[in-house]
Amino acid sequence: MKICFATSECVPFVKTGGLGDVSGALPRFIGGLGHEVKVFLPLYSTIDREDHHLSFDKKLSGLSVELDGRPEEFSVWLGKLPDSDVDTLFIHSHTYFDRPHIYTDDDDEDERYLLFQLAIFRVLEEMKWIPDVIHANDWPTALLPVLLRLRYRLRAFSKTASVLTIHNIGYQGTFDRSTISKINLPGKRTTRSGPFEHYGRFSFLKAGICFADVVSTVSPTYAAEIQTREFGRGLEDAIRTRGDRVQGVLNGIDDSTWNPASDSLIPYPYDAESLNVKSENKRALLERFQLPTDDDLPLIGIISRLTDQKGFNLLEPILESILREGDMRFVVLGSGDEHLQNVFRSAAHEFPDQIGVRIGYDESLSHLIEAGADIFLMPSLYEPCGLNQMYSLNYGTIPVVRRTGGLADTVVDLDEDPANANGFVFDRAEPTELERALHRAISRYDDRFLWRLLQKRGMASDFSWTTSAASYLSLYREAVVASEM
Ligand code: ADP
Repeated sequence: MKICFATSECVPFVKTGGLGDVSGALPRFIGGLGHEVKVFLPLYSTIDREDHHLSFDKKLSGLSVELDGRPEEFSVWLGKLPDSDVDTLFIHSHTYFDRPHIYTDDDDEDERYLLFQLAIFRVLEEMKWIPDVIHANDWPTALLPVLLRLRYRLRAFSKTASVLTIHNIGYQGTFDRSTISKINLPGKRTTRSGPFEHYGRFSFLKAGICFADVVSTVSPTYAAEIQTREFGRGLEDAIRTRGDRVQGVLNGIDDSTWNPASDSLIPYPYDAESLNVKSENKRALLERFQLPTDDDLPLIGIISRLTDQKGFNLLEPILESILREGDMRFVVLGSGDEHLQNVFRSAAHEFPDQIGVRIGYDESLSHLIEAGADIFLMPSLYEPCGLNQMYSLNYGTIPVVRRTGGLADTVVDLDEDPANANGFVFDRAEPTELERALHRAISRYDDRFLWRLLQKRGMASDFSWTTSAASYLSLYREAVVASEM
């Protein structure tokens, strides 16, 4: 198949969250399965052209598109995804992308991504490269399915299908209603509550959901959740009307960086057959946080953005009493919300032997925490997919999670399903529920045989991108069939 993969973030060029990781990995693995993929990305000024060996494409220079009734020029730079043959085409517009930030609150934020999407079609036309599928990701590229259906299917793209993947429904690209009139769509509809109206405004994501041949998200449970009022953020009705065209595919993890046997960022690599070595990493981790190493209390790790989404407001009311009980220790790495940062900081001040806290972003420490902790805590209120619970399972670190999104799809509770269990799961978003789950985990920690069994089961999980890429290929085929109907 020929796949045009459009994204606003892609590792190693630019990343603010999980979308960047997926975009850096999925096209590579689909390419590896013998398909032809081209990635399209804006050329933000934060991307260093020399470092990434990008070259200016003369053949595609001087192109323009019509935006809000005027011509807008752009140019194209070429690169490759590292360790692959996948072409990456960077759309450059001095007007729109030479800014200090990737996403902005500027008045023309809508136009930045309108230009990007119009430019993608213009380039495809110019190259005469007609993809079987256009894969759009999140709001910045969610109008591609709309443009395809209303404008380009009447041209050379009559056999091209579209897939829209929602990585986090919290970001919807909502602007003034005039946004949609900045592109020229034949037969445009502006009826109330139609695809181009969202609570009196215009949402890129809603329009994309209405027009994509297949809509997907990053875990099966999140695919069901976003059809409900609790999780849909006002888009639940739009999603529900797409019925069984809405699917969930779990993200993979990159096991060239997240593999305890070959991880260069941990002092003592290990695998399922040498789990004793994990305790050496625990000692190193405790030392790093200046916590005592002369006993064997279970050590709970946290690595997270500190935002409401991640559920640490459930931990706040019980943290002090847990620490006072003294039968576990915490190491915390994260940054974000000022209040939560202070909650952890003052706990570390009051209980210096019980909890170590590092406020900030630290890639190498995050690997040591995965390798050295016994338990990993993710009490998220919502979690489209989540990566850290998968890293934890691969590192023999037992996850304690709330049953939501990708956490529900990857962690199986010990007391509910002992034969398949790999961790501990709680349901209601309440501090007492979280406390009970932590206590259940701690009370099992001394049962060495059981703990090993849980660890080994987790380490045997398959979260490879090869598996996820195969699922995306099925989605692409489904989209092609759907587009013919
Ligand atoms: P989200 O994308 O919602 O933040 P994910 O679990 O999907 O959550 O991915 C988060 C990624 O960011 C993980 O790889 C995690 O290890 C990493 N991460 C988050 N906070 C930090 C931090 N403070 N330092 C290092 N890595 C972090």
